[in-house]
Amino acid sequence: MINTNNQYNHKKIEWSLIEEKWRHKWDEQEIFNSDPDFSKKKYFITVAYPYPNSPQHIGHGRTYTLADAHARYMRMKGYNVLFPMGFHYTGTPILGMSRRIASGDKELLETFQYIYHVSEDAIKSFVEPIKIASYFHNEIKLGMKEMGYSIDWRREFTTIDKLYSKFISWQFNTLRKKGLIVQGSHPVGWCPKDQNPVSQHDTIGDVEPDFNEYILIKFKLDDGYIIPTATLRPETIYGVTNLWVNPNVEYVRIQIDNNERWIVSKEAARKLEFLNHKVAIKSSIYGKEIVGKYVEDPIRKDSIPLYPASFVESNNGTGIVMSVPGHAPYDFQAIEDLKKNISLHNEFVGLKVDVTPITIIGSDDYYYADVNDSILISPAAKIISKFKVKDQEDPQLEKATNELYLHEYYKGKMLQNTGKYVGMPVSVAKDMIKNEIISNGIAEIMFELINKPVRCRCGTECVVKILNDQWFINYGDKNWKKLAHECLNKMDIVPEEIRQEFNYVIDWLRERACARKSGLGTKLPLDEDWIIESLSDSVIYMSYYIVAKYITNNNSISEDSSKLMIHVNNVDALNDSFFDYILLGNGDVRQVAAECNISISLIEAIRNEFSYFYPLDARHSGRDLVQNHLSFFIFNHVAIFARENWPRKIVVNGSVLMEGKKMSKSLGNIIPLRAAIKEYSADAIRLAMLSSAELLQDADFSFDAIKGIRSKLDDIYDIALEYSMVKSKFGSSLFSSIILSEAKTEIEDRWLLSRLQNHITDITASMDNLRVRKALHDILYLLDQDLQWYRKRITAKNRDDSLIAVTLSIFLDNRIRMLAPFAPFISEEVWEIIGGKYDSIIFAGWPIVDEDKRDPVAEESEQLIINLISDLQNILKVTKISPTKIIIYTSARWKQQIYQKILEYILLENKTNFGDIMKELVKDPETAKVKNDPKLIRNMIEDILSDPIEARNRRLKLTFFDEIFPLNDAKKLLSLESGNAQTEIIVHSEDEIQKYDPREKSKYSRPFKPAIYIE
Ligand SMILES: [Zn+2]
Repeated sequence: MINTNNQYNHKKIEWSLIEEKWRHKWDEQEIFNSDPDFSKKKYFITVAYPYPNSPQHIGHGRTYTLADAHARYMRMKGYNVLFPMGFHYTGTPILGMSRRIASGDKELLETFQYIYHVSEDAIKSFVEPIKIASYFHNEIKLGMKEMGYSIDWRREFTTIDKLYSKFISWQFNTLRKKGLIVQGSHPVGWCPKDQNPVSQHDTIGDVEPDFNEYILIKFKLDDGYIIPTATLRPETIYGVTNLWVNPNVEYVRIQIDNNERWIVSKEAARKLEFLNHKVAIKSSIYGKEIVGKYVEDPIRKDSIPLYPASFVESNNGTGIVMSVPGHAPYDFQAIEDLKKNISLHNEFVGLKVDVTPITIIGSDDYYYADVNDSILISPAAKIISKFKVKDQEDPQLEKATNELYLHEYYKGKMLQNTGKYVGMPVSVAKDMIKNEIISNGIAEIMFELINKPVRCRCGTECVVKILNDQWFINYGDKNWKKLAHECLNKMDIVPEEIRQEFNYVIDWLRERACARKSGLGTKLPLDEDWIIESLSDSVIYMSYYIVAKYITNNNSISEDSSKLMIHVNNVDALNDSFFDYILLGNGDVRQVAAECNISISLIEAIRNEFSYFYPLDARHSGRDLVQNHLSFFIFNHVAIFARENWPRKIVVNGSVLMEGKKMSKSLGNIIPLRAAIKEYSADAIRLAMLSSAELLQDADFSFDAIKGIRSKLDDIYDIALEYSMVKSKFGSSLFSSIILSEAKTEIEDRWLLSRLQNHITDITASMDNLRVRKALHDILYLLDQDLQWYRKRITAKNRDDSLIAVTLSIFLDNRIRMLAPFAPFISEEVWEIIGGKYDSIIFAGWPIVDEDKRDPVAEESEQLIINLISDLQNILKVTKISPTKIIIYTSARWKQQIYQKILEYILLENKTNFGDIMKELVKDPETAKVKNDPKLIRNMIEDILSDPIEARNRRLKLTFFDEIFPLNDAKKLLSLESGNAQTEIIVHSEDEIQKYDPREKSKYSRPFKPAIYIE
């Protein structure tokens, strides 16, 4: 007898032993090493390589774990999957860290000692930067192995390897030949203290200094001073009604570039200096001193007022902004609020607030202003009412602003009051207006950080600086952007909702500083004083994994294998022609072989392998890299590679919270991955990372969740052991001798296996879209519910037959194969216990739906029993009867025919209206008698509409469904569930003439809704 009540004592799982066993087996069989196999479809998947200046912690694990689950899934689907890993040493952070160690930085020493548990000796060695990198490189690699990542380690490299540097030189030479590397003066994120450009890797919290080109529009005061205001929407200059100035901010009067006199905030004066302006401060002035004055609007030449606003920050732009209440929800709301509150401002007695929003952009979308109603209600006013904004503090304002901005940018057209720009799309007019007002001297450009404050790792707040004679990659190139868009349009972006962000970044990227004066990395081939920075040498390295496999440092390399590998000491001879041939197919192979001193066959082998594995099928990364790395990845691929080798998919995921909080050293909630694996097991951590959130959401890692998952895994392991005992009881001949056939199976067997097919369909669909949370929910919880029900049924029926083992074996086999990409260790172990046929569950493949096992009758039957038990228990709870006898009445045949008709009206003719359906039924002589019982029809329609779609469709296909059979089959269970195992259960059809029906309950029965009478 199968033990069904989970009384089975949990055998304590020795996780560490299981993990070690399978790591060893995988290594031994070289399961994850992938070589070209032209008989198989390939799938090439990579994830952003780690930067080894600290060990991996829980927060890093999500992206890698997701990529690994994806790789394992594709392997089980039959693909030849390549999943490699490298290590990114480039840049200044490791140098900076080493310097801090040498100077005895207490905070860093304590972090290494108490959070990362690095030994004292190791820490001492960290005064040498490379020791830091190699120490954590090793740590991270061990962690990845312990997590069970299915990586082909033969392809491992670091970005300071000699050949990698040659590869990066080739990348830059190739970009330069295409005119994409430029020298000049361009803005960069800048640390004033270090006097070095900064990017994501150089800042505290890994933030990319994100700056934008603001247009400074100049408004004239009557005393000759100019008030410049910064805007990202120069086209809205036609709708300016006033300026906003902060009365409590101290502004300065400055002489700028010897030719104009401006009023700006103190901060703005400093920022202008970094932007190559000559600034001389003359005097200071409080904002309140100019409130109520008028300036001349440079386009319409109207006189417009300066209004007070405390929301204007001195550190944003110039500290004074223009107000466009027709299109900027913030301005609209601020005017409204000011009108309401002006009487409270004693200091501005007499200030009149009487501006009307001016609408200058319309669109076909009726929701936003179209040409006809533009004067009456502005787009800003409309969107404010849509978002139900209450006041300036309302967080909805931000959303309203973004929505309106995007809408107008992509769909808006300029209206008649914009002169020659009328009818032009905003996206076009914007640039034309910008160019016009700049060339007229009405406006200038000002670069400004949009994600302030950004701090350099040295602690200094970063600024934007115009850097002269620097080397840049010209991401601003129009044709290049066009190609990048073409690639993006063809790519899968998962999740799709992030695509718009890519579009935005591609449009917005401009020249980007690509080299630094210090740090680890490759020297810029055009100018060896410079070192290529870390976001520029990490964009096409996916192709380098192909080459890396062929490099060896094995000195005992035989004569023979030297034809197959390149010794690391011989890479000096390799030059650009090598990469031109391998990666682009350009050049003459004999000449390349001669120049690089390697055999033609080896070059051809590498070239073939590249042709086989490229393009990259999926690139995984965290969401924070959309704005730089992932976009550069697209740009560089389209610049360098032929169209057929452009990447196919990007998968982006959110970050990880720890018990609902951001992870940070100061909160002390950073948990090194390897320590967590020791404590909770790799599988449980993998599941906890992937099951709490869909891709873009932040995953919340919690110890309660881990415990819940551990106990689920314990259950799965126990069921496998239990099953293996049952199986051994019936002997190993079981599977060959028993054929599952209708005659031998019981309803619940057929039900469980039919439900299993539905789950396989759903879970496969989820996995194909990487909706891993949904997939895991189904695997861990929905399948479990089904199993519990099955156990309940066989226990109540006292079954003790060998079919149970057959049913369970099919169920377990499929479930464990679906769990395998997520929890590889336990899956392999269970697979072995239940007698899986292959050395690894990976070779068993992903489950395929067995259409023959779909059984709508069985599904309907069990659903009927489940619903009946629920109804019964509700009645017992309300009436508080202790039953001795329960009579169940199934509906008469004629009701079933009518039910079927109604189902057809609803599903096939889309009629759901009671009157329409009734009319049809009465028209048909066969069903005309329902005329007398409208309530029955009403109830039936309600029944159907409240059922899930799958149930409706299933029932449509069942022309006749016998409810009596399953109810009789479940009598014992019904007694048990009534709270008294002795309760007698009697099942009657309403059609039976000789039935026990003392209260005439049977007439209330409806199809799939038997009536119940309790004594
Ligand atoms: Zn700094």
